[in-house]
Amino acid sequence: MGGKVYLTGAGPGDPDLLTVKALRLIHQADVIVYDRLINDEILREAKKEAILIYVGKEDSLHTLPQEEINALLVAYAHTHDTIVRLKGGDPLVFGRGGEEALYLSKNGIAFEIIPGISSAIAVPAYAGIPLTHRGINTSFRIITGHQTVFSEDFDAGVLRENETLVILMGLHRLDKIIRSLLYNGLDSSLPCAIIENGTMPTQKQVFATLDTIVDESRHIHSPALIVVGETVSLHKNLEWFQSL
Ligand code: SAH
Repeated sequence: MGGKVYLTGAGPGDPDLLTVKALRLIHQADVIVYDRLINDEILREAKKEAILIYVGKEDSLHTLPQEEINALLVAYAHTHDTIVRLKGGDPLVFGRGGEEALYLSKNGIAFEIIPGISSAIAVPAYAGIPLTHRGINTSFRIITGHQTVFSEDFDAGVLRENETLVILMGLHRLDKIIRSLLYNGLDSSLPCAIIENGTMPTQKQVFATLDTIVDESRHIHSPALIVVGETVSLHKNLEWFQSL
């Protein structure tokens, strides 16, 4: 009899934003395989004898190559009952949770997916930014700044009217991303925010416009996400979160 792997979202940072189901599984887990950006407070909920394995690092998405993480999960599923694969935010939002689930499925390992609160949703909320707002827009889009999306072929013309953009993994290419958005026709006066360590006491945010954001955000570090669009300006009346 093999064990089961729970592909689990840990939420955006604040441990209180963990789901009840995720917390229950963390309490039960024999093995927890976790990424960077997982709050220590959450890991302290594991039982004393649980095996905790860190597989993420600072500047790339994974310390262990993905194949080794996959193999690790399968190996532990053969020797232990409850394996929690803990990922930041939601496991299926740029978290490679889908790839891991496919690999488990191919290898006959039972799994469940436990959604988490994605930083893409929660972090703007903690900065007082609604992603949609009646009278302003009817859609938002979550994209990665990591890969080729923002090469010359990114066409802002495909954006729906006033669509809010939430860009993950984009801080290290901020300059390039903003230039690409402007090149593709977004207005340089469009409101833009960058939020670091969202939902945490150390949260920092910068509000600017597309043409000033690069200069204004030089002191911002990872993890951070970028929000672009008219709804960003609502923060002036909606900021509620007190960071340190
Ligand atoms: N699966 C995760 C996203 C993984 S990609 C989720 O659903 O949240 C990692 C990126 O998420 C980071 O590069 C950063 O852009 C963003 N991110 C994660 N946590 C964050 C936080 N607390 N504050 C700001 N951005 C965050």
